[in-house]
Amino acid sequence: MRTHYSSEISEDAGGTQVTLAGWVHEIRDMGKLKFLILRDREGLIQVTAKSDTTDPAVLKTIGELTKESVIEVTGKVSPNSRAPKKVEIVPTSISVVSLSRTPLPLDVTGKVDADLDTRLNNRFMDVRKPAVAAVFKIRSKIQQAFREFFVQKDFIEINPPSIIAAASEGGTELFAISYFEREAFLCQSPQLYKQMMMSAGFDKVFITMPVFRAESHNTTRHLNEIFQMDIEKSFIADEEGVLQDLEGVVHYLLLKVSEDCAEELKTLGREVKIPAIPFRRLTYDEALQLLEKNGLKIPWGSDFTPEADKKLAELIDGPFFIKRWPTKLRAFYSKPFDEDPKYCRAFDLCYMGMEISSGAQRIHDHDELVESLKRKNLKPDNFEFYLKAFRYGMPPHGGWSIGAERMTEAITGVSNIRECVLYPRDRTRVEP
Ligand code: ATP
Ligand code: MG
Repeated sequence: MRTHYSSEISEDAGGTQVTLAGWVHEIRDMGKLKFLILRDREGLIQVTAKSDTTDPAVLKTIGELTKESVIEVTGKVSPNSRAPKKVEIVPTSISVVSLSRTPLPLDVTGKVDADLDTRLNNRFMDVRKPAVAAVFKIRSKIQQAFREFFVQKDFIEINPPSIIAAASEGGTELFAISYFEREAFLCQSPQLYKQMMMSAGFDKVFITMPVFRAESHNTTRHLNEIFQMDIEKSFIADEEGVLQDLEGVVHYLLLKVSEDCAEELKTLGREVKIPAIPFRRLTYDEALQLLEKNGLKIPWGSDFTPEADKKLAELIDGPFFIKRWPTKLRAFYSKPFDEDPKYCRAFDLCYMGMEISSGAQRIHDHDELVESLKRKNLKPDNFEFYLKAFRYGMPPHGGWSIGAERMTEAITGVSNIRECVLYPRDRTRVEP
């Protein structure tokens, strides 16, 4: 069994006997010298066999190996200034755990490029590439850091249903499913459920779950299955009460990624700049003015275009908030300003030219919520299960949602959101 990962082998361990296990990355047969590059989760290491000193059985095995086979190598650590890591393994035994067939569906060494479709069709093999694996190690760190941050802050983790009877918000399209004798839908957001738990008295909740959106557009930043990281919190004075949690957690997870994923960032050629708290805050109107001053006119009451998002990112360093949105642009539950209800207490977090998160202080007054539904041409009757939770004691509250894939895209700098999902679901892809 494996005693070490490749990354744990260093020059000063010369002479130690170790057992490594992993995939055959490359084989180079130079006649008297045979080089085998072994790849495991943590990296690559050279295994060197010499025809005059290595056991003939080992030499025979190397001769029969195919690329990407899984092997176990036992041998001595030997410093060698010409080896890529200045150290190599001199093998005393090699066992073939699983022989790979040929030809391979994909090149793993990075020498032959493949298009994204071919890569996604062979994802198990695509992820063997260190630069691809790095994206997923960083995503894992992001999700762990998110959880850590809110566990430390004493939030309760809840699990809303993914199968629902009716649209949670209007707006985006839902996927209909056949549910016994009736039709049901896949959840587009845990929104209504996390709000109901504010009435339940949980005060602070967090959720990580997939949501499903039947948006038919095909862009490099939209998916049809998304992993969201949400919070909802009660007894806030205004939207700042949850906005500060958002900048806090983004700061924390950037810090964790830069500290714990230094190798992965290096592999990707990325540097993470840790933004200072507080992040810059602009109102929607200020953002429009800033854009207009820089030659991009967006009519009041329209959402920002991808070009506008990009422009703002050029003009403002690091993550920033856009607050005080036109009420008509935001979901029905966003709380309008009392003194100027044309605007509401919703916000977006933008980073690297993308919307990473949306949130708001919510309407917590039952009658105001019913009015807001009607103004959006939604039927209060369809929201009865939700409205009920506002009739028997509902504290002021707010929350937000981060898309895990957008956050990963922003940090890793990949150019397509599909790179941040093992098995992306888009308009044309439901397999594998
Ligand atoms: P956009 O305007 O960019 O389409 P949205 O405003 O419809 O997004 P929200 O409902 O605010 O999305 O969802 C919260 C977060 O979830 C977004 O800020 C984003 O990070 C992520 N997200 C939402 N929809 C998608 C999607 N289709 N693909 C990938 N991520 C998404
Ligand atoms: Mg949004």
